Amino acid sequence: MSGTKIRTHGKDIERSIGREIDRIDTAPIFSDADAVRLNRLYRGADTRELLAGVLLDRVAGEIAVVSSFGAESAVLLHMIADVAPATPVLFLETGKHFPETLAYRDLLVERLGLTNLINLTPDAALLAKKDESGLRWSYDPDGCCEIRKVQPLARAMAGYDATITGRKGFQSATRAGLPRFEIDKVDAAGRLKVNPLADWDAERLAEYFTRHDLPPHPLVAQGYPSIGCSPCTSKVAEGEDPRSGRWRGWDKTECGIHVPGATGPDEGELPPGYEPVF
Ligand code: SF4
Repeated sequence: MSGTKIRTHGKDIERSIGREIDRIDTAPIFSDADAVRLNRLYRGADTRELLAGVLLDRVAGEIAVVSSFGAESAVLLHMIADVAPATPVLFLETGKHFPETLAYRDLLVERLGLTNLINLTPDAALLAKKDESGLRWSYDPDGCCEIRKVQPLARAMAGYDATITGRKGFQSATRAGLPRFEIDKVDAAGRLKVNPLADWDAERLAEYFTRHDLPPHPLVAQGYPSIGCSPCTSKVAEGEDPRSGRWRGWDKTECGIHVPGATGPDEGELPPGYEPVF
């Protein structure tokens, strides 16, 4: 009898009625073929069905959502809270957020009933050594992101096989054609990234906000359609790419947590092949 095969934390777990096989496997957690298979499996499925698959049926193993609590985060978090409110919600507490973002994070967690918010903070000793002034963002944003985002997330990911992101294909030219399941190229472990909103557009998001009476991020009304750390986020003029306000003036479009082979804090520029961030 065939069963549902789930790979999680280096183990293959094959479930079928009446039996369970659990065998050790040191290969990467997931492969490109797994991502293709899952994209096919959920082709045509609605977003809620996909979320039930990853959060309840664990088709992507142990999973957490990584949220910026940005302009559009409420939509995905609302759906996740509805399906599985104890889902781990990872927030990169860089120490550089707008106070409005931190207040919005707390408001959404309470309003939506999310019960497992995890704030990921930079290593204090590394921060003291590499960014004593707190101004690294101004002369080396790649290095700053590495210390404050990439490394804390990498440490946290040791406990997970996959992440859910809020990325959408329409957000920028670099995100067009975003798949729902993809292999996370940032590390060699073969983790999956799940993008449940990959095919959502701005109109659908706005409609969801209205239908569920979700509170907007307070900075959206002030001209920030994409919100990250305060020193690296600027207002966006009408007609501009929504993400053009991030790292304005720098040849940088992502923070590194979705960048293949991201370098260490002293190793210069991020490599080509940027992948989108949430
Ligand atoms: S977005 Fe800016 S302040 Fe935030 S971690 Fe990256 S460089 Fe530093």
